[in-house]
Amino acid sequence: MRTNLMGYGRQELEEFFAELNEPSFRVVQTLKWIHQRGIICFDEMTDLSKSLRSQLNEIATVKIPAIERDLLSTDGTRKWLIRLDDGNCVETVFIPESTRGTLCISSQVGCSLTCSFCATGRQGFNRNLATDEILSQVWLARNLLRTNVNDRPITNIVFMGMGEPLLNYSNVIPALELLLDDCGYGFSRRRITLSTAGVVPGIRQLLKDCPVSLAVSLHAPDDELRTQLVPLNKKYPIRKLLDACYKYAAYDRRWRVTFEYILLSGVNDSLKQAKALVKILSDFPAKVNLIPYNPVSGLEYERPNQRTIDAFRDVLIQAGIVTVTRKTRGEDVDAACGQLVGMFRDRTTRSSRLGTSSSPNEIQTTSSSGAAL
Ligand code: SAH
Repeated sequence: MRTNLMGYGRQELEEFFAELNEPSFRVVQTLKWIHQRGIICFDEMTDLSKSLRSQLNEIATVKIPAIERDLLSTDGTRKWLIRLDDGNCVETVFIPESTRGTLCISSQVGCSLTCSFCATGRQGFNRNLATDEILSQVWLARNLLRTNVNDRPITNIVFMGMGEPLLNYSNVIPALELLLDDCGYGFSRRRITLSTAGVVPGIRQLLKDCPVSLAVSLHAPDDELRTQLVPLNKKYPIRKLLDACYKYAAYDRRWRVTFEYILLSGVNDSLKQAKALVKILSDFPAKVNLIPYNPVSGLEYERPNQRTIDAFRDVLIQAGIVTVTRKTRGEDVDAACGQLVGMFRDRTTRSSRLGTSSSPNEIQTTSSSGAAL
């Protein structure tokens, strides 16, 4: 088994090269080749000695998963289905805008949280992604989007793809560190956003270990409704969640926690609920991102009409809360929020969860074929 250097951070590389009796500057050299220049062939790493290069060819590798599908939406959004070593696939989405390019990455194969409106949740959970599998998504997108060596089309990274990043904490943190590292991907903390359904201990730990911008999927202004939409709320109710967010926001006065609020017609989109939301977010350095519901087949929810969406937004804005309605992107290739399902073997009891008789081990088809749910 050759050692895969893809997910190796400074410390692991330090140890790796020490064992080979190589000087520690090899760490920076290899980090730059792999992550900055996108070179994974040791023979092309020309500032490594010839003997080291041939040794590396024998004992190490830099593993990058294959692209299973590459889909381009009419609005420029690009979605990749990435095939992992074990045959599972995850989805990564690039969203180009005039002033920035956002890459939305996955942290798990599937998701265990069963939020009632989300396609990924309905697929069930298979496994956590390893650090190298999380980083490979950025590596692949960077290299596929790069036409010139100096092109940097990706300006922001969001952990808003498949999975709950704070339930894959030990693999997500090293990935964040390499995304932040100047010899890695060199993103600033503010340009990386981790989105969570509200794993309170994870939020507290993230603040200590590796603070980056935080987005919280709130979706309801009261516990009763939130528990229906996001079952995790039972464990970490709104008060506890907001308390953790408040402490998180105190890390830097320029920071705001972003609250994501999906808009579901007749469920959480009334003016009364907008006012209740204002109430729980008052005095909070918050920003609200309204996400009109994106259809998931098999679900009864509907997106509110534009007037309702605007009226909800106006209540928040009038209360002084920075509020943005997220534009739906990539819908024609099922790349919009909540539509990512990948392709994998579901190890949880999908049949019991969905109340169907299908085998829990069937291979899930991708949403791109329209056959998933
Ligand atoms: N588990 C994390 C990361 C996933 S982010 C979290 O919950 O935050 C995915 C975002 O898309 C979340 O805000 C989620 O609530 C939202 N989303 C899920 N399903 C959606 C749908 N059908 N329409 C619009 N947004 C959806």
